[in-house]
Amino acid sequence: MKTILITGGAGFIGSNLCEKLIFDENNKIICVDNNFTGSITNVQKFLSNPRFQFISHDITNPIEIDEKIDEIYNLACPASPKFYQGKNAIFTTKTCVLGAINVLELAKKNNAKILQASTSEIYGDPLEHPQNELYKGNVNPIGIRACYDEGKRAAESLFFDYNRIHNTKIKIVRIFNTYGPNLNPDDGRVISNFIYQALKNQDITIYGNGTQTRSFCYIDDLINIIIKVMESPDEFIGPINIGNPKEYTINELAELIKNKINNNLKITYKPLPQDDPTKRQPDITLAKSYFNWEPKISLSEGLDKTIRYFQTLLKEQK
Ligand code: NAD
Ligand code: UDP
Repeated sequence: MKTILITGGAGFIGSNLCEKLIFDENNKIICVDNNFTGSITNVQKFLSNPRFQFISHDITNPIEIDEKIDEIYNLACPASPKFYQGKNAIFTTKTCVLGAINVLELAKKNNAKILQASTSEIYGDPLEHPQNELYKGNVNPIGIRACYDEGKRAAESLFFDYNRIHNTKIKIVRIFNTYGPNLNPDDGRVISNFIYQALKNQDITIYGNGTQTRSFCYIDDLINIIIKVMESPDEFIGPINIGNPKEYTINELAELIKNKINNNLKITYKPLPQDDPTKRQPDITLAKSYFNWEPKISLSEGLDKTIRYFQTLLKEQK
């Protein structure tokens, strides 16, 4: 049996990963989370499973686990601008940096493989388009997104140093915008905001003029590839871009969601947040050539599944 530790396991990506990994009866899952942005309700259904353990812990503090750990997915970090900037920006940097050191120490002690959930944000507001893994980025180191962008860059640097100095078995995935069930409806990300607003008959809020672009990957496509990356030979360490290369303007996204839920909704334009990237699109040549992977779920299909999830949530709240 493999023992797999997932930090941030009660969050959006983490809970979907727990769900997939617990299906394999050869896995024991240890989920470590401090409920900063995630929620135990996301993993409630696994709590009675003897192969699932939830540990309430903040990864900025060292992690002590009695049993031998085989794999670590380091997902713990607030991921939406509303939370990584707004809730506690200093805590975000601490989670990225001190958290990375603590999980890397645990990996070193256990000779475990460790995968870091890095981000397209390390490219900042990119001057190259699309972004491939060799692009070094254009990050404002003193802006309001820096706690996250620079925190994640520092974490990548720490992972590489542990690999060079201690031979720690690392994997770095750079995740582009991902969406799907278990997204926190209140976390301010564009897809959760638009769907929730539309379902509640509220105006859709577009920041700036809506010509900025993003590329949206459905959660199941992401989960499939990050497990493949974890299981790849030790020589493969990345970084590797993971995302859906189909690019949309935020205006197009709003129209798509309106068409699916209610075409009569109004759009309200609000100021564009500081340093909001103007464009973002992953070059996934490496994922295609090494893993024979590319996303299978279109934005339209993924939105339908996500809308159904939010409809159920809203019904439960009534
Ligand atoms: P999320 O906010 O839903 O999940 C993050 C989880 O980490 C939450 O459960 C939160 O409570 C937990 N957490 C935060 N700080 C912690 C700490 N100090 N100690 C313990 N737990 C802590 O976000 P998500 O979308 O699931 O993102 C997961 C990871 O993937 C993050 O590292 C994020 O940076 C990365 N990522 C996500 C996206 C995306 O589009 N969702 C894109 C790029 C990178
Ligand atoms: N955005 C928007 N309206 C919203 C929420 C977000 O127009 O209600 C925009 C935001 O300014 C950004 C894009 O949508 O340009 C994606 O935002 P999100 O916070 O989801 O992700 P990130 O900016 O981290 O890619």
